[in-house]
Amino acid sequence: MSLKDYEFWFIVGSQYLYGPEVLETVAKRAQEMADTLNASGNLPCKVVYKVTAKTNAEITDTIRDANHDEKCAGIITWCHTFSPSKMWINGLVNLQKPWCHFATQYNREIPNEEIDMDFMNLNQAAHGDREHGFIGARLRTPRKVIAGYWQDKDIQERLGRWMRAAAGAAFSKTLKVMRFGDNMREVAVTEGDKVEVQAKLGWQVNTWPVGQLAETINAVTDAEVDALMKEYESLYDMATDNIEAVRYQAREEIAIKKMLDAEGCCAFSNTFQDLYGMRQLPGIATQHLLASGYGYGAEGDWKVAAMTAIIKFMGEGLKGGTAFMEDYTYHLAQGNEYSLGAHMLEVCPSVAAGRPRIEVHYLGIGGKEDPARLVFEGREGKAVVVSLVDMGGRLRLICQDIQCVKPIMPMPNLPVARVMWQAMPDLKTGLECWILAGGAHHTVLSHDVDAEQMRDWARMMDIEFVHIGKDTTAESLEKDLFLSDIAWKLK
Ligand code: MN
Repeated sequence: MSLKDYEFWFIVGSQYLYGPEVLETVAKRAQEMADTLNASGNLPCKVVYKVTAKTNAEITDTIRDANHDEKCAGIITWCHTFSPSKMWINGLVNLQKPWCHFATQYNREIPNEEIDMDFMNLNQAAHGDREHGFIGARLRTPRKVIAGYWQDKDIQERLGRWMRAAAGAAFSKTLKVMRFGDNMREVAVTEGDKVEVQAKLGWQVNTWPVGQLAETINAVTDAEVDALMKEYESLYDMATDNIEAVRYQAREEIAIKKMLDAEGCCAFSNTFQDLYGMRQLPGIATQHLLASGYGYGAEGDWKVAAMTAIIKFMGEGLKGGTAFMEDYTYHLAQGNEYSLGAHMLEVCPSVAAGRPRIEVHYLGIGGKEDPARLVFEGREGKAVVVSLVDMGGRLRLICQDIQCVKPIMPMPNLPVARVMWQAMPDLKTGLECWILAGGAHHTVLSHDVDAEQMRDWARMMDIEFVHIGKDTTAESLEKDLFLSDIAWKLK
């Protein structure tokens, strides 16, 4: 399913106390609100007005239907009038979809002349949403609260960003990851409990033989390679005479894609330590698959592969780009400090500032032929880097705000794509915090999602979330991590 195919059910709380006329008005307005939100162009998915809920049975039935509807990625609730919350308990304790409590109001302003007790009884969201908030808190039901006027663009966009996180949660529940080869020998942070991630996040992480991939590569036809080479030439500048090396990458890409699609996998990992029967480590092959929306992790890192696929899905239709990334090296000039991110080959061209070049260079690691790869500079702008680590007994998602910049030097002898950024709150504090939290060297770098969305996603998946932003200090983070560790052990 594509992101835009998901729906969100709008459930409006009320009760029979006010008589049929008020209930008709509430229902009419709820439909109008859904129509206006859908017409705004600020939401990635459709809002479907479902019910003006007046009884326990209506709420319980609607939530049960939402749980079982594949297209429903979450519910949005709001109380136009007062909606006694004991009516909501049986529904909410069984809720299996993300929930947003939209604390809004039909009218923007208090009408000075018109306002009387009838108006007050019809327009009492300030009252009803507090009763509704209590039951969410009392039941400890995970939820997002968005407060503001429903016609305001910034509020609609915030709702839209939450929808993207919720659709990412739905996507996660169905995600399959194909592993070629195991985790890189001796590496700890890329390891993880595949049973735990399947139970918590839904991921089916399984392995396929590298030998089967080698056979599939060898069976690709020249006509298939010709077609993909045309696509490469339309998107990238051919900056090599070694066309045969590029054609071999096209062959690898076609074969990997065939195997992924045959199993319905949207992400894959491989490792330079297991390339049996392959002539090159996949470079442009992986990069172009990433650009098509597949997730990828190097050195057997299936966690980052899955997270790349999920964040790409959350950012569907946006233009900033999302890439598999690795923190490589620092520029520590005082007051002018930057991180340089890259990888051996596999940075996604969706984050490129300009038109990537296809180059072929020697690669010492892996002991194979010189691989073709895309070389480019990453674009400027606000972004995040995201890392999922397995703490033993629970998963921790770490998200750091970064400001990507045009690389401050050309680095003409660096044979790979490169992205340069300033970490928040600054390189040294940000680095201290990242290391304290146990964040990996592999990340997903994205211009298309923000920390709030990743926090929303982590809440939906019931995993720990750590944010490193402009106000974070190492002292406060250390304390938060200590308390969080205790809380998650008790949970
Ligand atoms: Mn790596």
